[in-house]
Amino acid sequence: DTLTVSELAEKLNKDTAEIIKKLMFLGVMATKNQDLDKDSIELICEEYGVTAEQVVEVDEIDLDNFKTEEKAEDLIERPAVVTIMGHVDHGKTTLLDSIRDTKVTEGEAGGITQHIGAYQVEDNGKKVTFLDTPGHAAFTSMRSRGAQVTDIAILVVAADDGVMPQTVEAINHAKAAEVPIIVAVNKMDKEGANPDRVMQELTEHELIPEDWGGDTIFVQLSAIKREGIDDLLEMILLVSEVEELKANPNSNANGTVIEAQLDKGRGSVATLLVQNGTLHVGDAIVVGNTYGRVRAMVNDLGRRVQAAGPSTPVEITGLNEVPAAGDQFVVFSNEKQARQVGEARQQKQIEEKRTDKAKVSLDDLFEQIKQGEVKDINLVLKADVQGSVEALASSLKKIDVEGVKVNIIHTGVGAIAESDIILASASNAIVIGFNVRPDNNAKKAAETEKVDVRLHRIIYKVIEEIEAAMKGMLDPEF
Ligand code: GDP
Repeated sequence: DTLTVSELAEKLNKDTAEIIKKLMFLGVMATKNQDLDKDSIELICEEYGVTAEQVVEVDEIDLDNFKTEEKAEDLIERPAVVTIMGHVDHGKTTLLDSIRDTKVTEGEAGGITQHIGAYQVEDNGKKVTFLDTPGHAAFTSMRSRGAQVTDIAILVVAADDGVMPQTVEAINHAKAAEVPIIVAVNKMDKEGANPDRVMQELTEHELIPEDWGGDTIFVQLSAIKREGIDDLLEMILLVSEVEELKANPNSNANGTVIEAQLDKGRGSVATLLVQNGTLHVGDAIVVGNTYGRVRAMVNDLGRRVQAAGPSTPVEITGLNEVPAAGDQFVVFSNEKQARQVGEARQQKQIEEKRTDKAKVSLDDLFEQIKQGEVKDINLVLKADVQGSVEALASSLKKIDVEGVKVNIIHTGVGAIAESDIILASASNAIVIGFNVRPDNNAKKAAETEKVDVRLHRIIYKVIEEIEAAMKGMLDPEF
């Protein structure tokens, strides 16, 4: 890794001229854009009492920089990662259990399932990975941490109950993440099951069955009777194929933390989902803001394994501290480098906590538009009545300033809830409350997630404010 004179000056927080002078004293003639060799960097760093490693590494601790770049020809098919979403009591947990029970006993006789946060089943020789925490809250809170793990969302709708508020929320969360949706019409065994009504109601949310000219897959099933499970798996495999999900099993692993906790006997225990590469026991690994060496790995059947390939969930031990769900992990070939990056990330996290800033706020929107960082303004809209939601949404959608468009990712009636804030955080959105306020959990979440929440009582004020922000003419707040 090399640096130019001015880059080195910047990292050391010194004037470029000062560095050039120091170099001259050391017998090195350099201009400000000249690349420095390792020895010169080390000599200069010594002068300032820091080690060269600290200087070179600190700026390069974004884990994305350490992921292997893959060539297309090295990529092969990988299993889909699936999340189950839907309204409460529509059968998400029952479905997860029945998929696991039907499939695991078939393949892995005698396996005792272990709840590690995700599991894998096999159908027709192909694997599918299910995340064990149903619902869009977990899904989106991971996404707000920059983790996109879900490839396909299963939307469970009870045939006797139809589309309910959390069904709509789940649809919006999946759409915001651009994840394809398969609809599972559940509880078909019940009297009063009316799948046609479910399909009808979902057309209002642009989920239109193929029979009616759309492209959404609907599967009818009974999670409790374990009927239709094979159909669902078949459809998941079909969508996986269309999505061309791929990874290279022959490189250093990277992926995401599904869950993690402190275990009295084993220390830090984390379930990792490998997204690319293969994870091995003994690997040097940075996970979020902690690091370590993979001491032992256990799969979803409670068996010890030595290696875990793409889309495989494994529980590992050997980390210094407990990471958070949604944290990224990367394997390093060099243990020393893993430690340096891990330590630097820990340090940076401590500093960032002091200077945390909102992702998008109306106050700095114009700056972000000017710098080309923002092309859509994402909004989450909550109001007291449906009529206001619609009126507000349609007026807001008409705003178009300098080619920047308003994009409404979720609307709803009622108080601003925690899930609204998490969705906004994941989608870099601003939350607008019209005649409604955030509840206590939402208030807390808005503070920690640094989400801009705007409360209004008059429609044209909302429009005015958004327009003004886009033109860089927002009045200062008093
Ligand atoms: P979740 O809140 O979406 O996870 O829903 P659960 O899986 O906890 O299910 C809620 C209730 O619906 C439970 O009493 C289940 O036994 C029941 N249930 C789930 N699936 C079916 C089904 O296919 N048929 C019938 N009759 N009941 C079901």
